[in-house]
Order: sequence, then structure tokens, then C-alpha cells
Amino acid sequence: MDEPLYISNASYILVTRQDYSLHVRTNESILVEDDIIKCIGPSEACRKPRGAYIIDGRRRIVAPAWINAHTHVAMYYLRGSLPDQGFWDWINRIMKLEEETITPRLVYYSSLLGCIEMLMNGVVGFIDMYYHPVETAKACSSLGLITANGPTSKDFEVISKTLEKLRAIKSTIPIMNIHSLYLYDTETLEKLFEYASRNNLLKNIHVSETRREVYMVWKETGHWPVEYLYRMNWLDDKTILVHLNWVMSHEVEYISEKNAKAVFCPQSSMRLAEAGFAPVYEMLSRGITASIGTDGSSGDRFNMLDEYKQLILLYRHNYWDTRLSIYWAYPRIVINGYRILGLKGGVVEEGYPAYLVVYKYDKIRNNPLTKTNVLPAIVYSDHPITEYVLSRNEIIYSPDKTDKLGETADKALEWIMDNAAERIDYIRGRLIGKQ
Ligand SMILES: [Zn+2]
Repeated sequence: MDEPLYISNASYILVTRQDYSLHVRTNESILVEDDIIKCIGPSEACRKPRGAYIIDGRRRIVAPAWINAHTHVAMYYLRGSLPDQGFWDWINRIMKLEEETITPRLVYYSSLLGCIEMLMNGVVGFIDMYYHPVETAKACSSLGLITANGPTSKDFEVISKTLEKLRAIKSTIPIMNIHSLYLYDTETLEKLFEYASRNNLLKNIHVSETRREVYMVWKETGHWPVEYLYRMNWLDDKTILVHLNWVMSHEVEYISEKNAKAVFCPQSSMRLAEAGFAPVYEMLSRGITASIGTDGSSGDRFNMLDEYKQLILLYRHNYWDTRLSIYWAYPRIVINGYRILGLKGGVVEEGYPAYLVVYKYDKIRNNPLTKTNVLPAIVYSDHPITEYVLSRNEIIYSPDKTDKLGETADKALEWIMDNAAERIDYIRGRLIGKQ
């Protein structure tokens, strides 16, 4: 978009600042020019330039757009599968089913649908781990999303070729995906971490997700998982630790010391009966860069407001502690998504890149709305509808795009129905007719 963008008279603006403070502003306008938020203020002070693209902000809430910090986006096609299994049963069956169904085409179409749904939830970028990452990056880059993705292979020729292909795709950040400590032997892990460090790549790994996992690692190595990463020198500021449901207090200190990053997936953890939960308040208070993600098919949707709600609720339920306040945690969780990726964003302040979402709130479900209850009213209550998503100078989601996106989605869905969904018994998590 070459012309400036002007959001006029927004009813509410959630102004998140670099210092993690949050200020709710009312009836003000926002001007975006050359990728950057130029001004926020009353229309008399923050004026609409001639020829600007205008978004009517009345009955709307403007907020920072989200980074979905942990996904397996192409698991869209497995949505609703194995609805009642605990983690180990679930992962064994899902991996077998993936082996029998996954193709590059399926990953492409499934990612396309998942990414359209992310746009519908105010997401501008995501950190992904899955088969055929190049297909996901291609699909989601075509929609204007930022994709952080990387190979899941153990073969270094495949790894370097995949990274090269990812580097060539617009808005794609190549990373190293290392599924977990329990799926690889020490020698392979050593090589993967060493390769990632040498190439200055983010390392994305599931850690301390279940109690069984932490005891498996203990039995094998004599250390708890994060402690093991620390001892092996694999923990640094480019390591993204996902889940941490069973992390120990001294391991939190290691995460903090090494400035490693953390991502929680509360809905997926609850659905898979993983129990435990990270000491989120303590971690954020210590300045650990932590955010949230919707995970794969066990997360069921890409709704970040809802994931944020689950984070607050699960923490409170687990720790009998309300210090993880909805206003205090929100700017941290939002901004940290960008910080994990090394991007400047999540901040709604003059001079910062414009990553914004415009929500349209519902007359009944999100009211009575005032300056003092706007955040809980859109997080705890039903969530408002995403109307626009802005990624720097590009409007990547808007009412005039919905028809075209709908056509793209129809085509992708038809392919998935014919080539995968109709062959799958979702309750048992296997192909129809197979044992
Ligand atoms: Zn995951």
C-alpha cells in the first residue's frame, strides 16, 4: 500500500508500550505512514492526510496484532481428531496417521486454511514446526503472514537445502526445529544444536511438556530436561522452550540466566491432560521473554484472545494466585511474541512498525464497554470479530478481502476433503478401514 492509512475515531485503542505498560485511549485516531505509526491522538491533533485509506474506528477496538508463538499450522486437516486422548496416546496415534497421510500438497492446502484462520484472529506471524515447512511458508507468505519455520529432518543435506529454500520465500524466518529431547539420541541432538548455533538460527523445541517426559529424560541423563539443556550448553538466547508444564524452580533460573525464550500452549496442554503448568507470573516478573501459541490440532483453533484467556485461567487454577493480572500480562505476552522472533513490534506507539488489529465488538456480547473494562470484556467474555489486520504497510485482512479469501479457502477445503478428511476416522485417529 503506497498511500497512508488512517483509523478515524477509534472507540478504544489498547496502547502497549515498549516498557510493557498498557494504556487505554478512547475516541482517538491513528495515522500509519511508510510502515510506521506516525501519530495517535484526537483527530484535531492527529490529522487525516489527503488521499489516505480510511478505516472507520467507531465501535471498534484497535490493538496490537498477535504473533502465534507455537503452531503446527498444517495440522488444520486433523482438527477434531482424537478428541479424548491423553498426550502419549495422542502423539503415538497422530504420528502414525500423519505418516499415512502427509504429502506436500496436503501441507500446502492445510496451511493455507490455518493461515486464513489466523488472519481472522488478528495474527500477523507465527512460529511453526511441521513436515514440509517450505509448503507452509509458501502458502502463508502468499497471504502476507510472517512465517518462522524450519526443517524437522535429521539429515543435514535436507536441512541445509530446506533452509536455503525458506530463505528465498518472502517474510520467512528460517529456524531450526528440534522436536524434543525424547525423539532424538544425544549424538543427533548434539549435531542439531551445534548446526543451529553455527548458523545463528533460533532453535524451537518442546520441553517438559508431560511428567512422563521429565522422568524419561531424568532416567536417561540424570538431569531434568531444561537442566540437561543447560548442562549440555544448548540453552541460549536463541532457544525457544515450548510448554514447560513441568519445569522446576532452579530450571527457571537457568532460563533466565541464559535469556532463553518460553512459549506456553494452555488449551492444548489441558486438552491432552498434561497437568502441571509453568510458573508464568514468576517467569514474566523475572523478565523472561515468554509468550503463547495455539499449538497443533490439540489446540483446535487459532484464536489468540482465547489462548490468552486460557493462560490466565490455567495459571490461576494451578497456582491459587491472581497476580497474573489480565492488564499486566497482556502487553508482555503480545510484545514478547515479536521479541522471540527478534522483531520490533507489538508496541502501539508513535515511531513503531504498524502491526495492528481492528476488532469490531458486539453490541450484546461485549457490552457494557468502558475504558476500565475493555480488555477483560474482550478476553474473558466472547471475543470480538477481527475486521482488519495490518502488517506494516500492508492490509492483510479486511472486509474487501473476505470474498477472495473465501474462494481460496473453498478450493483448499475441497482438496482436503477429497484427499484426506474423508479417508480419516477422526474419533479413532486412523484411516477408515485400517486397524
Ligand atoms: Zn507443539
